[in-house]
Amino acid sequence: MRVLLITDIHANRVALEAVVQDAGAVDAVWCLGDVVGYGPRPNECCVWVEAHAAITVVGNHDWAALGKLDLDDFNEGARQSTLWTVEQLTPYAYQWLDALPNRYIEGETTLVHGSPRHPVWEYLLRPAQAAANFEYFDTSVCFVGHTHAPAIFQEALARRGEPSYVPPYGEPIALTNGRYLVNPGSVGQPRDGDPRAAYAIYDPDTCVIEFRRLAYDVELTQRQMREAGLPESLVVRLARGL
Ligand code: ZN
Repeated sequence: MRVLLITDIHANRVALEAVVQDAGAVDAVWCLGDVVGYGPRPNECCVWVEAHAAITVVGNHDWAALGKLDLDDFNEGARQSTLWTVEQLTPYAYQWLDALPNRYIEGETTLVHGSPRHPVWEYLLRPAQAAANFEYFDTSVCFVGHTHAPAIFQEALARRGEPSYVPPYGEPIALTNGRYLVNPGSVGQPRDGDPRAAYAIYDPDTCVIEFRRLAYDVELTQRQMREAGLPESLVVRLARGL
């Protein structure tokens, strides 16, 4: 089975389309949340994910667009883009986002946006955090998003305090040596210093995953953001991958 694993699209339709093209034929799409926020095409991204993803969990920016989060916790750029997104969202997109679960278990895989401990909010960055989070899910693999950086935490390594790692892009690797917390990286707003869209292809039958990175037309998304009047700081950061 070939699953396209995507997260943190952030209303970047251009990046989403490029990823879908690059992934080729898949049996399923799993989406780890933050479909909207920051980017210029929230409704189009909701429509695509709603139509194509077998599983979608909700992210903090999706909640913010629904008015479920206090925007005081957001920085100015995130706050302004959320207010813009709220104005744009169709009732259809709103209702779809509003019905999304914050955790989904599919066979031996758990899906959340942030972490299994705090599905919408926690950023999984440090090994000690990851080690603690292995207590909060029962499956062999848990997929997360939210940090906008690809990462694998293997349980035994995290318990020894060793940091996450990123396998070489385009090389399939098996997640069969214990349990794992895995982030495929962000489709629409990477923040690891690499502006290329990030995603993964996963086979839940063999637990083999392939991380991928893909250049897309960043300037087109930037033009759409400027036309929409989104904050210039968000436009600029997209090209820097930060
Ligand atoms: Zn995000």
